[in-house]
Amino acid sequence: MATPGKKMAPRDNGAPEYKKYLHPMMVKNYGKWKYHEKVKPGVLVHVAHSGDKLYTVRAGSPRTLSVDTIRKICDVADKHCQGFLRFTTRCNIEFQVTSAEAVEPLINDIHEVLGFPVGGTGNSISNIIHTQGWMHCNLPGTDAAGSVKALMDTLYQDFINETLPQRVRISASCCQINCGGQSDIAINLQHHHPPVINHNNMQICELPKTVAICPVAAIRPATVEGKESLMVVDEKCMYCGACHGQCPSMEIRDPKTDTLAIWVGGKTASTRGGPSFMKLATFGLPNNPPRWPEVGDAVKKILDAYKETGKPYERIGEWIERIGWKRFFEMTGFKFTKYHIDTYRYARTTYNMSTQVRL
Ligand code: SF4
Ligand code: SF4
Repeated sequence: MATPGKKMAPRDNGAPEYKKYLHPMMVKNYGKWKYHEKVKPGVLVHVAHSGDKLYTVRAGSPRTLSVDTIRKICDVADKHCQGFLRFTTRCNIEFQVTSAEAVEPLINDIHEVLGFPVGGTGNSISNIIHTQGWMHCNLPGTDAAGSVKALMDTLYQDFINETLPQRVRISASCCQINCGGQSDIAINLQHHHPPVINHNNMQICELPKTVAICPVAAIRPATVEGKESLMVVDEKCMYCGACHGQCPSMEIRDPKTDTLAIWVGGKTASTRGGPSFMKLATFGLPNNPPRWPEVGDAVKKILDAYKETGKPYERIGEWIERIGWKRFFEMTGFKFTKYHIDTYRYARTTYNMSTQVRL
């Protein structure tokens, strides 16, 4: 109970009050917008019933930002946007100005001061998201940030122009857990063998949690050389690496065998066919830093085929469903193999059928 007269600490649970972070013109016209339209790639205008116009300029960010870069971004926002800016879920930076005349000087500073491209709106590729990776996770088998930087360089023209049939969301994830989520095109790291267990370093307190986290119940308690440890039923393991997240002594990463795979057709929007899961397009691409050229080539093949035969407004998954998977493999040149058919025999019989995330 609070002591009378004593100031209580601010509540730190629940969603924060967000209106104080919005551009003042957004707050003034909150819920009173009449329409919005595209001015040109990377620039939108929202028109309110009051007649106010708010121009949004979208820039691609490198996602992993240094303090110095954030200061520069804030300087641009202070100079042009009354100190306000916002990040989208795909790490685009949106700057907002209240007159058409203010748009070009802002774009100049985004190019000259920040060195960022302007684009990512409408039927273009939006900024590519990647998972938190080595910055904050103990699982990464590749450098998602690095591969995304290389890929954005390859796809630069598709970010600054709106020449695709529909918007394309791309993500890169550094393990099979794929915290990058569902995307039109997703790059995922793939492991190719069960975890290698270091029995000398098992922390007993974590063993039940490690057993419980396996999505297919492949982990069993075991006694090895008189000590409590774990074992993996190899034919059940699907090499996801979830156990490695729980216990570092279950090492799943292997620089000699880990490769990259590309999945296509995921989306979370409810439009037309509704949300959809991604499906495997190609796999076995080398995990090849610092530029991952094989990944860039494969993504280009998908986008080129999509540009050629996609209809306006058709997302990548909808395009593939219409032309058929056979045609997709013909157009991209990817090999269709037995691994493209999901025959995993334990998928329906194990106890972990919940969609809840248990990390
Ligand atoms: S859980 Fe996997 S995809 Fe997410 S950051 Fe960790 S390694 Fe990357
Ligand atoms: S890699 Fe995944 S499937 Fe294999 S034992 Fe670990 S948690 Fe289970």
